[in-house]
Amino acid sequence: MEEQKKRTAREIIENYDGPAVRIMEVCGTHTHEIFRLGIRKLLPKQVELISGPGCPVCVTPVSFIDEAIYLALEKQVTICTFGDLVRVPGSQMSLAGAREKGAKIHIVYSPADAERYAKDHPEEQVTFLSVGFETTTPAGCLSVKQAKEDGISNYSLLVANKTMPGAYEALKGSADVFLYPGHVNAITGTELCEELVKEGVSGVVAGFTAKELLTALAVALVRFQEGKPFFVNCYPRVVTREGSREAQRLVNELMEGCDSEWRGLGIIPGSGMQLREEWEAYDARKKYNMPKIEGKANPACRCGDVLQGKCKPSDCKVFGKVCTPQHPVGACMVSGEGACSAYYMYDTRG
Ligand code: SF4
Repeated sequence: MEEQKKRTAREIIENYDGPAVRIMEVCGTHTHEIFRLGIRKLLPKQVELISGPGCPVCVTPVSFIDEAIYLALEKQVTICTFGDLVRVPGSQMSLAGAREKGAKIHIVYSPADAERYAKDHPEEQVTFLSVGFETTTPAGCLSVKQAKEDGISNYSLLVANKTMPGAYEALKGSADVFLYPGHVNAITGTELCEELVKEGVSGVVAGFTAKELLTALAVALVRFQEGKPFFVNCYPRVVTREGSREAQRLVNELMEGCDSEWRGLGIIPGSGMQLREEWEAYDARKKYNMPKIEGKANPACRCGDVLQGKCKPSDCKVFGKVCTPQHPVGACMVSGEGACSAYYMYDTRG
């Protein structure tokens, strides 16, 4: 141990000679940064990095895209959304395809932009596609509060926000160590990760710079060799044990837990968020009496397996051939955080 303390994180990683270990990058941004920074090239053979379900666009099911298209084409609602979602294939078409059929799709950079758009266009009904994890949910809630304050009634959310605890539960056993998403832990804190250690689940919270990622991986490898479940917060400049109480209070005021469908993982009980009854005037599903829509993914697409770490993107038959960032077949090739797009951009050898 004394000798290990003197070595750099990079040296610890490059010289790791312990048992085989599978480390899951829960967060899509980690997948991309680890590729981009060339960290994968430092790893010895017995250290395998696998991608997880932490890309919000990737885990959003096909049925959500279908719901958005239903609102846009059948109810003539203006859809405000982050750009990534526009090219995600739905059962019949993407939102880009719906736009060609006359749907009004407006790209925004935040829910606040969407609320402002609704305020400036009182003649339009506007729905923001609210996807993402604990990190992005508070901003959606803030936009609803702002709409109430502004006294506008033409703004709503189509909510597919998810929370990570259910996913960790569903993914138990799929990796030896979780590389926890630092930005999610900044909101939630680390108590859950500490609890998971008691159930035998190991993990480290990682930041996003080269130094932070190398440190987190080195700590994971050192602790893994000790043979006991562990948790270490390797992103203490941002992540505290309690997380952001203010963000937690805000979300709790407007939203409550519900069952939620994840692409590839199916329905995970209690893993989603929905607006509380007091705020249902801003819930697009209730406002437009949304029918039950069953989405159908392209059968060739293995996004579900990729998101569970069951296969690499390059194991998918259409990877890089039929499915490319220009012509995505599944969500994991569309998103800037998707594992398939990372493999395509940085390592077509897989
Ligand atoms: S390569 Fe394309 S089709 Fe295959 S799993 Fe990835 S996104 Fe889906």
